[in-house]
Amino acid sequence: MKRREFLAATAATGLGLGMQAAGARAPIAGGQMVSAHRMKLGSFEVTTLLDGYIDVPPTVLVGDPGLIRQLLAAGGWPAGPMRLPVNTFLVNTGEKLVLLDAGGARMLGPTAGRLPQALAAAGIDPGQIDEVYITHMHGDHLHGTVTPEGARMFPNAVVRVAKPDVDFWGSAENKAKAPENQRPRFVAAERALAAYGDRLRTFTLGDELTAGIRSVHAAGHTPGHSCYMVQSGEARLLALGDAMHVAPVQFPRPEITVAFDSDQDGARAVRARLFDMAARENILVAAVHVAFPGIGRLRKTGEGYAFDPIPWQLF
Ligand SMILES: [Zn+2]
Repeated sequence: MKRREFLAATAATGLGLGMQAAGARAPIAGGQMVSAHRMKLGSFEVTTLLDGYIDVPPTVLVGDPGLIRQLLAAGGWPAGPMRLPVNTFLVNTGEKLVLLDAGGARMLGPTAGRLPQALAAAGIDPGQIDEVYITHMHGDHLHGTVTPEGARMFPNAVVRVAKPDVDFWGSAENKAKAPENQRPRFVAAERALAAYGDRLRTFTLGDELTAGIRSVHAAGHTPGHSCYMVQSGEARLLALGDAMHVAPVQFPRPEITVAFDSDQDGARAVRARLFDMAARENILVAAVHVAFPGIGRLRKTGEGYAFDPIPWQLF
């Protein structure tokens, strides 16, 4: 086509230079949308609510630095801080609304603390939440139970935490003898205990907490770290809490730990046991710090596992 003919043709179809197609422009939104993802698990519904993310330096990984660099690069992660999402999981059993972990509120900086908006988008009022099961008392899982003013974010909920974590993180004595730079780590527990009082109740690792959700013993990351097995009929989902942090590193090489693991060997053994069980028994896993919505299956490969994200369901 000659240039003149081309110009004539494009002008006729409205594509000519200088013409603006109606409706082709929209205002720049200038912000992220709320992220909520829902799936069916047997007769239950599980909704991932994204609280945000935290950036963590790769130096927190404990293992061969060369291997770690290689795994991060193979996963396409840029050099520099690792961006870890903070997912929370809302389980509706039909009888109860149970929130598994509560995110970091704004206590960890401005990139987390969106759980309230995500709940609103999912059509849930915080007052409807019956129970909150915390995997452990680190801030990115617990701070979200308390408002900035120190009140209960979930005014009608009972918060459940395994006893060894409350004993450890709730102890003024432990806080006093912790190194100065570790003391802020006790603040989340202090605030939650103050806000919930006798509505914060302990349990023994391994207990069933409600019909269809039981604690899975996973101490290591913290003294009372608990995972949760959610089961409806044959369908099972294992909420991993912090038995998993960095997807491109710890799926392929689960023996690599993080500096936040209070018992390195314990944390390593927990991950090995849980990953083996999930892969062998084809149990869905739900991970706080894996890309939203953080739910998928583990498949044994070489020295570790591949994570296959769950396909989206429309229902
Ligand atoms: Zn965490």
